[in-house]
Amino acid sequence: MIDGAVIGGGPVGLVFAILNHSNQNKIQIFEAKKCNALYQDSRALALSNGSRLILEEIGVWERLKKNITNINRIHTSQVNSFGRTLLEAKEFNEKSLGFIVSYGDLMKTLIEKIEKLNNVEVIYETKVTKCFDDKSLIHLSLQNKNETKVFQSNLVILADGANDKIEGLELQKKIKPLNHSAIVTKVSTELPHQNTAYERFTDEGPIALLPNKNNKFSLVWTGPNEHIDKLANLNEKSFLIQLHKSFGDRVGNFKECEKRISFHLKHSSVSVLHPNIVALGNASQTMHPVAGQGLNTGFKDAYKLNKAIKKFNDDKDLQSILDGYKKSRSGEQRKILDFTEILVNGFSSDLVGLKKVRGFALSFLDITKPIKNSFVRKLSYGE
Ligand SMILES: Cc1cc2nc3c(=O)[nH]c(=O)nc-3n(C[C@H](O)[C@H](O)[C@H](O)COP(=O)(O)OP(=O)(O)OC[C@H]3O[C@@H](n4cnc5c(N)ncnc54)[C@H](O)[C@@H]3O)c2cc1C
Repeated sequence: MIDGAVIGGGPVGLVFAILNHSNQNKIQIFEAKKCNALYQDSRALALSNGSRLILEEIGVWERLKKNITNINRIHTSQVNSFGRTLLEAKEFNEKSLGFIVSYGDLMKTLIEKIEKLNNVEVIYETKVTKCFDDKSLIHLSLQNKNETKVFQSNLVILADGANDKIEGLELQKKIKPLNHSAIVTKVSTELPHQNTAYERFTDEGPIALLPNKNNKFSLVWTGPNEHIDKLANLNEKSFLIQLHKSFGDRVGNFKECEKRISFHLKHSSVSVLHPNIVALGNASQTMHPVAGQGLNTGFKDAYKLNKAIKKFNDDKDLQSILDGYKKSRSGEQRKILDFTEILVNGFSSDLVGLKKVRGFALSFLDITKPIKNSFVRKLSYGE
């Protein structure tokens, strides 16, 4: 019997706990923020078909469907060059190529589900500040307002996002600074989105427009830190003019944008050195948003770990199961980080001649069915 703790009640921690509840294990989730703060996060997340299958399996997809925008087409092109690719869901016998949902709506749906489970509990406004292990038992110090408590568990899931402030937690990190940042916001445009997502490769970096509710697009504009800092400091009118210049005319004029948020990007992979602690989601890897794989990789982590834990019974050693999971998952993590890196580097360099090659690559992808299929499988199912 596992008496587990999850550090961090973000989407990945919650999905793991819901998947795991049918194993009859008791799971406590410690979340630093207030519940309402999680509902108010309006960042747009791109869910893949692989994530849809996981959300269907845990019984939340029907409820979430009211709040999602389908991506039925993905249009990929590059500035000042020929060559473009159009991926359409129906070509691949899919209803959609992906889905956009706000962080807040996703969290609301997952929390409603957890409230119905009697062996899973979220304890809000409770920060895990310290951790140490003692043979197979892990001790966590919890800070709740002015009170400090200790919690003991034989399995700890680290799902605290890209945070590293827990004293005593031993991590081995590989970090690759990308010297790139992202601006995210919502924009309204002259032409309706018609459920099309656009990826436009510019000399500075990719610009993604993802169809969202109320006929708006979510914009993710990435590029070198100095370039993004300049864009972040422009007034709204100049920002929209610059966006039109870089993105081109496919959606007409950009009319308005919401608050712009910018953040630095990095590729990282993390190994936890404690045998009974496993990192999932952003706590385990972070990547450039160009392929929208961040959260989807996290959901897959949760799914695979739960599958491994199902094999656990009292005669089988929990540590060897966790060890097996960590080894097999690190190979998949490498592949997804490499795929993302190829997309960023392959398309964002301004070397002489490369633009032509990329133009050919996009045209080639557009007409070559097996390659197109495998590209879409990678984006949709992370395979
Ligand atoms: C602006 C932005 C846009 C993004 N857009 C996309 C996108 O379009 N598609 C996509 O797939 N991904 C996107 N991502 C990445 C995506 O948000 C992450 O992959 C996803 O949120 C990771 O989920 P998580 O549960 O691992 O971590 P998080 O969502 O970061 O959740 C971690 C939780 O842990 C809690 N916590 C942290 N430390 C502690 C502690 N010590 N004790 C207790 N609780 C703690 C935090 O309060 C938080 O609630 C975006 C990220 C950002 C920042």
